[in-house]
Amino acid sequence: MKRFLLIALFLGVLCTAKTTYAADNVFVYRAGDVTIYRIADRMGGMPESLLLGGDRQAIAQLLTEKTICPNMFVSFLLVRGNEKILIDSGYGEKNQGQTVAILKNLGIDPKEITEVLLTHMHRDHILGLFSSVNGKTVPTYPKATISIDEAEYRFWTDRKNATKAPANQASCFESAELLTKLYANKIHLLKKDAMPVPWLRAISLPGHTEGHSGFALVAKDGKNYLFGGDFLHCLAVQSRYPDVTVPWDTDQDLAKMTRKSLLKKIAGTGTIVLGGHFPNPGAATFHTHPDGGYSYTFVQPAATH
Ligand SMILES: [Zn+2]
Repeated sequence: MKRFLLIALFLGVLCTAKTTYAADNVFVYRAGDVTIYRIADRMGGMPESLLLGGDRQAIAQLLTEKTICPNMFVSFLLVRGNEKILIDSGYGEKNQGQTVAILKNLGIDPKEITEVLLTHMHRDHILGLFSSVNGKTVPTYPKATISIDEAEYRFWTDRKNATKAPANQASCFESAELLTKLYANKIHLLKKDAMPVPWLRAISLPGHTEGHSGFALVAKDGKNYLFGGDFLHCLAVQSRYPDVTVPWDTDQDLAKMTRKSLLKKIAGTGTIVLGGHFPNPGAATFHTHPDGGYSYTFVQPAATH
């Protein structure tokens, strides 16, 4: 009997996990004539021990089970008429990234993607650009231009910068070389305030990496959307305590400053922020918190897939 109960419990957990995952695969936001698909590339969860600075007790109070910040690895598909573009590419199939599988589920062939905008060049955002076919590494999006901040690209394509990067990021230099090799003349380097497509503006948000950027969209319905990349990793903690950092911020002080100034700028404005690691549903607006820092309200999607 006991064994039966254990098996039933195990199957129950499996089924629940599967159902939850399927329902959470894609959240759809309608931004005027642009449809935003927020794609769950990989599930995640960040141990509290990785957060640097701040009051540990106050931090624990904001976290699930006091030890884990619920976060995810996500990418975004933006569809406007015939245009299909991606913001970030996820971890790649080799690393259990689901972006390509989910695109196919949505009826989209990777060849239809004409632009990929990268917020930065960390592995969880860039490795999805590379696929393995018969043991050979090939571009996942062979028709796409890859747009990336110029300073970001220059940093990761120069191995002399290895001493400036956090210790565990040597592989980012390898990814940058692979990007250069596989996408060659399809790399579009963005200068400050550039518009990689006419309806999206690059916003410089440095600190997490040298040329970390967000992308702003003013929708036809008048709402402002900001794809914020990793300016804020652990939503629950770093919104309330923006001085808290993560070990993989290239410049900790600049990351703090950028986070604080962006939160100050958008608080109370209704700007809808879609983060690179926000938990479901993945979009939020921000407000000043009466006791300091900022609070947030999730924005519910129009649909899920
Ligand atoms: Zn990231």
